[in-house]
Amino acid sequence: MSERFCYRCGISEREGGPLIEGLCQVCYRKENPVLLIENEINTELCQNCGSYKRRGVWVDPQSYELEELIFEVAENALLEALEDSFSDKIREYEVVPPEELEETEEIPLGRAVVAFEPVGYHIEYFPAIITYEVRVKARTHELQKELHDERKRVTVYVRQTVCPRCQKFLGGYFEAILQVRAEDRPLTEEEREAIGKLVEEKVDEIMRRDRMGFIQDTIEKEEGLDFYMGSTSAARKLAQAIKERFGGKISEAYELVGMDRQTSREVYRTSVSVRIPKFQRGDIVTDRRGTVYEVERVDGKGMTLRNLSTGKSEHKDWKTLGREGVNTVEHEESEAMVTSIGRDEVQLMDMESYETYEIEKPGVELTEGDVYRVVSVKGKRYIRGRKEEEK
Ligand SMILES: [Zn+2]
Ligand SMILES: [Zn+2]
Repeated sequence: MSERFCYRCGISEREGGPLIEGLCQVCYRKENPVLLIENEINTELCQNCGSYKRRGVWVDPQSYELEELIFEVAENALLEALEDSFSDKIREYEVVPPEELEETEEIPLGRAVVAFEPVGYHIEYFPAIITYEVRVKARTHELQKELHDERKRVTVYVRQTVCPRCQKFLGGYFEAILQVRAEDRPLTEEEREAIGKLVEEKVDEIMRRDRMGFIQDTIEKEEGLDFYMGSTSAARKLAQAIKERFGGKISEAYELVGMDRQTSREVYRTSVSVRIPKFQRGDIVTDRRGTVYEVERVDGKGMTLRNLSTGKSEHKDWKTLGREGVNTVEHEESEAMVTSIGRDEVQLMDMESYETYEIEKPGVELTEGDVYRVVSVKGKRYIRGRKEEEK
């Protein structure tokens, strides 16, 4: 039998074999490198919001701390570049910490194990430059006595740009207007503040999923608030959140704002309106049967009403309130002192006119000599509460 030799270096099979595809062990590994990654990778991050492209899609970073952010962006670019930089003899690969790779001695055929670590960087200004040492171990042939063990230095350049979302934001773009109003009255200061806070919280939440969910501008109007939003769906979500907190109705309108020159399609802008109920804490209301209540609380589900005849409070949902015809009612307010308490009625003296009058005894405890707030609805008087309880 004749001895075989490596066609590349001439070593005998006895010394350098077994030969693989006519090559000795060393030449086989040299001729069949597994790591084909480029020496340089370019990537970018948005200088306005810190986002960067992951598999072609702009995503928000995990860290906004500049140093961590730059490493996050660079590593992402390196990992993506690794994905298509193995020879076609590698069917799958795994990224592991460098120490783990160091200890790896056996790998199944067609597999690679890769690790990387930064070996030099300057990130004080852009482009930030980070050099990684990438090391890979792999097996591509069953006759291999030793694994492939390759190292390569890869430099990642991180440049600044402005992402498409921020280009739109900085250019004043908006897609929808969210209008927050109250029925039949302007929004109160208290409501404006509460809505502003709610919107702020909710937008943070929305932006985690919808990068266009930004607020371009907030306009304070006499009657309410207008939020100029980057996305219609974000405007809808906000309207829903406001409705859940304050109650009310949501409606939408579309306005033709122009023509897209590229697609020659009409461009519409959506107005999402949320109209919160006119009721406020402290309002005097009646239902269809003429029962008089004070509004104690207004929320997304309905209102808590205190019956001024019985003194009892009850929460009713919006549907029930609508069905019972609950509405604000004209009334006069006065103050009166309880002068005597009978079995079924109470005598009071008006604090301004000193007129005395009697009313049906309400379901609340009264004290002779104390001054109470009285409301008069359609000529009938009700005790609303003790004077010093006034808020
Ligand atoms: Zn050889
Ligand atoms: Zn951006």
